[in-house]
Amino acid sequence: MSLLVIGTLAYDTIETVHEKRPDVLGGSAMFFSVAAGAFLPVQLVAVVGRDFKPGDLAMLQRHGVDTSGVEHADGRTFRWTGRYSADWNSRQTIETQLNVFEHFDPKIPPAMCAAKYLFLANASPVVQAKALDQVTHPAFTVLDTMNLWIEMTRPELLQLLRRVDAVVLNDEEARMLTGERNLMKAAGAVLGLGPRYVILKKGEHGAFLMGSDVHFSLPAYPVSQVVDPTGAGDTFAGGFMGYVASQGNIAPKTMRKAMLYGTVAASYCVEDFGVGALQGRTLRDFDGRYDELLGIVTP
Ligand code: AMP
Repeated sequence: MSLLVIGTLAYDTIETVHEKRPDVLGGSAMFFSVAAGAFLPVQLVAVVGRDFKPGDLAMLQRHGVDTSGVEHADGRTFRWTGRYSADWNSRQTIETQLNVFEHFDPKIPPAMCAAKYLFLANASPVVQAKALDQVTHPAFTVLDTMNLWIEMTRPELLQLLRRVDAVVLNDEEARMLTGERNLMKAAGAVLGLGPRYVILKKGEHGAFLMGSDVHFSLPAYPVSQVVDPTGAGDTFAGGFMGYVASQGNIAPKTMRKAMLYGTVAASYCVEDFGVGALQGRTLRDFDGRYDELLGIVTP
């Protein structure tokens, strides 16, 4: 099965109470691809500037990612700066520099237009829609977004929500999108906007999946030390979609298991800055934590 992702490749500056780290490799599509690449080959469409290090693309290729759809544009790569509170429960965006992403007009290589599984990773809904237009018959399309786009491009986002099968949001984004404080009500309201499934991520409190044929909830995998939660949502989506696409179906049982794989992938992400702790992880590693997580949630 083919899995295509479009999103950002970035250099982030991460501020935690312990330290400030510049130029950390990130971006929504980066985290997603490294996680999903443990399950099956991933096709990536994104844009980078002339400052993007060749070694960072080579790392993606080592994780089974086809980077032939990555455009190299004149200018600097997307940059984002985020600051975390001491308990990790809140995050402030200090700065977003769109750079080459501002004029990104995604062109999906012909060989990738037939992808059956499509992940529209966090990016402008205008760019996401342009990508979706080019994929001929996707079987399962999942969308991610962020507060910036909910605030700046709400009409475009609402239009796009009517065209996708599922959406992944964190608690804050779901509340911002729907105006509902209660998360179950917010999830119901998101389903009313078009998608058949919604995945709500609640950080250290886990995640739940809701749709007409499935309702499933999971705690987070208990990691002993959080270093940087950046990208945990994208990584969750990578584990989820990677497993679903590798199985080639969206039966409720597949989606439930995919929630465990998403949770496991995200648990590695938070253990180091950027993709540091995800790099080199194989399906074997994921399976080990999958079994542990199963042991924790099964009576
Ligand atoms: P997450 O922690 O899952 O929300 O993902 C954070 C990653 O998304 C970082 O690596 C950022 O570079 C990237 N990012 C931050 N803001 C945006 C945005 N507005 N659009 C796309 N990607 C973004």
